[in-house]
Amino acid sequence: MKVAVVGTGYVGLVVGACLAEAGNDVACADVSSEKIDGLRKNQLPIFEPGLDTLVERNQEEGRLQFTTDVGAAVEASEIVFIAVGTPPDEDGSADLQHVLAVAETIGDHMNAPKIVITKSTVPVGTAEKVRRAIAGRTSEKFHVCSNPEFLKEGAAVEDFMKPDRVVVGVDSPEAAEIVGELYAPFVRTGKPLLFMDIPSAEMTKYAANAMLATRISFMNQIAELCEKVGADVTLVRKGIGSDARIGSAFLFPGPGYGGSCFPKDVKALIRTGDDCGVSLDVLKAVEDVNARQKRRIFEKLHEAAEGNLHGRRVAVWGLAFKAETDDMRESPAIDLIQALLDAGATVRAHDPQAVDNARHIFGGRIEYAEHAYDAVKGADALAIVTEWLEFRNPDFGRLKSLLKTPLIVDGRNLYEPARMRQLGFRYIGIGRGEGA
Ligand code: NAD
Repeated sequence: MKVAVVGTGYVGLVVGACLAEAGNDVACADVSSEKIDGLRKNQLPIFEPGLDTLVERNQEEGRLQFTTDVGAAVEASEIVFIAVGTPPDEDGSADLQHVLAVAETIGDHMNAPKIVITKSTVPVGTAEKVRRAIAGRTSEKFHVCSNPEFLKEGAAVEDFMKPDRVVVGVDSPEAAEIVGELYAPFVRTGKPLLFMDIPSAEMTKYAANAMLATRISFMNQIAELCEKVGADVTLVRKGIGSDARIGSAFLFPGPGYGGSCFPKDVKALIRTGDDCGVSLDVLKAVEDVNARQKRRIFEKLHEAAEGNLHGRRVAVWGLAFKAETDDMRESPAIDLIQALLDAGATVRAHDPQAVDNARHIFGGRIEYAEHAYDAVKGADALAIVTEWLEFRNPDFGRLKSLLKTPLIVDGRNLYEPARMRQLGFRYIGIGRGEGA
């Protein structure tokens, strides 16, 4: 099939490359000529495991093209995905200006019947707004579908290729048939392709992210309580996760959720609720807990430094909001580093992929280390924010000799407290004791 994907970010690029890999002719369009120029040379604007290979192979085989000419991409396609950003507006609602701008461009370039699919995460009612924006500019026949994306950054290619499910909100059986054909190669293992009405599809995405964010905030509060009562949250997590009704995924306490989705989607759903007279109190608490959690590593460092971090040097391992991505949007590392700087500490940070993005945020206000061990040289403490594999089994002897004070505050509970104590570290995790 001939497909256009408008918006070539974390989602659009993965969608475009994976659809090309399945044999479709795909044009990825973006307003950023810098991104498009780079992509034409197989230079990816983001880090996402396995994506570079897909982009290179499919460009080489002529199934994947990159363009800044959104109109031309639309004209050449039967199916158009809208995958542009939907950042939070000032009041927390999703800002639809990019989605609707693309809808207008689509309307202006409707040279034949097409299926328009909203892939961006958008509130209930957006597909209708897209429909109206297009209909106002063309008399061609078209369908609008809502097909929210559930991929996880860091495993995005795998998630798109082998989804747990594909959700599609449709306005007609014809649209369902065509979208069904497009997705057939990805659900051959029997995973469900769920067709539903459009508002339900739009709501499903927000409900899924809100549920996941709720699990995280819930576990972060249980972790806080564990610290007070002398329990170990890592054991409690295993204890509850083995209950089939609960399941073991997404029960890890940590430095607070970040990324481009959970914070904005929880906010947008709360806003939708308020607009409809439904106060989503659970989610309001989820947000409050998360805002507090994002200060926890700093508070632990502050307490360990007896309330005075002025002039202290802190090493930070991990800048990305989670492992296997370079994405720093809403990363807990930003809150930590800002709090450390405000307290007069100096920071030297290392991340395998996110340093370039960190430079955009902090510029010369912090130091960047190319290697993890360089970051800790002469530091008064090490703070671990991201659960990158390379941090999981370090040379503890080397670490201890490089640190000025053997203090580690671990926002990801990567190590065993008792062992760390034996090795001579003061090791402070989340929701557990210090390994008596
Ligand atoms: P992104 O910021 O990485 O990419 C958006 C792209 O759209 C940018 O490259 C931007 O230049 C381009 N763009 C903006 N306006 C445009 C226009 N008028 N015409 C053409 N291109 C335009 O965003 P993202 O992380 O890929 O997210 C896109 C959407 O997908 C959001 O709604 C997000 O909530 C949703 N989503 C994201 C993820 C994720 O993990 N990042 C997962 C699922 C869903």
